[in-house]
Amino acid sequence: MPESAEELYRRALAAADEDCRLPIPPLDDWETFPFEGEIRTRPLRPPADDPPRQGEGGVDCWRCATGDKDAIWSDEHWLVAPLPKPSGLPVVVLLYPREHCDLEGLPPERQAELGPLIVRVERAVDSVGNIERVHVGRFGDGSEHLHFWFMARPARMPQLRMSFAAIWDDILPPVPEELWRGDNAAVARALAAGGGRAHV
Ligand SMILES: [Zn+2]
Repeated sequence: MPESAEELYRRALAAADEDCRLPIPPLDDWETFPFEGEIRTRPLRPPADDPPRQGEGGVDCWRCATGDKDAIWSDEHWLVAPLPKPSGLPVVVLLYPREHCDLEGLPPERQAELGPLIVRVERAVDSVGNIERVHVGRFGDGSEHLHFWFMARPARMPQLRMSFAAIWDDILPPVPEELWRGDNAAVARALAAGGGRAHV
């Protein structure tokens, strides 16, 4: 069993300074780290309970309340929606089950659909062109309603490789709105070619 939060905290503090700040890792060796210059770690906070997630227990869940109003594609059980507005990466879309659940509560029928769907969405995002890689992620710390991220990393921009692509999404200027709508529509059409319905 992993160590408890208290044990982890005690061990980490032993490596921290008097302000509870841990040493800076070798950032100069992190080729894809987006920042340079003076930087320091935040003081490590003591163990605490997680804040509640949005829509816990299906109560006031924004995803359930929104339904497929913001979707670019859906079928009977799943939908794909973009972020509310353009961000720095060319395409960022999320895959959700229509039914409120988290990954551990996903019904067996949906579990069986999930693998093929992840591949379908990845291919649909890649099909818009000028995409080097589509990063797929499930974090789930913000909202309880299950959601998978698909983040397209532009081709020929190797500085944006790896996990910091999600940070570059906030650093790069937002994609022009018209281009963003067109690319989301292309993703929707590519998905609909395999079933379900494009909404845009
Ligand atoms: Zn929900």
